[in-house]
Amino acid sequence: MSCIFCEIIKGNIPSTKVYEDEFVTAFNDLNPQMPVHVLIVPKKHIACVNDMTEDDVNLVGQAFFAAKKIAAEKGLENGYRIINNCGEDAGQTVKHIHFHLLAGKTMGDKII
Ligand code: AMP
Ligand code: ZN
Repeated sequence: MSCIFCEIIKGNIPSTKVYEDEFVTAFNDLNPQMPVHVLIVPKKHIACVNDMTEDDVNLVGQAFFAAKKIAAEKGLENGYRIINNCGEDAGQTVKHIHFHLLAGKTMGDKII
């Protein structure tokens, strides 16, 4: 199975990495939807939230904790949004769990 995010994590495909720790890698989205658009990607290949097991619970917490650190590093005092898409109706295009960290201007209409 080939997975573009696994290849980025292994360093086989280039990315503009902004953060890395034991649990996650974070890099700029290739097609940014906001002035700041970082993808926070757990290093373990999990296709989406539906494929999580109880063993993965900490990993998702680590992804959010990484978001906090990236936001502090980037000085996002005005706030940010974290989005996860799971499955077809949500428009998930890369089947490796990831979190979009969006910031840099006031965001438009909210779904929720
Ligand atoms: P999603 O629709 O939630 O699955 O988001 C996938 C995201 O990955 C999209 O915002 C794409 O722009 C982004 N993306 C796809 N390939 C790459 C890549 N090679 N480097 C950085 N971002 C990518
Ligand atoms: Zn993967």
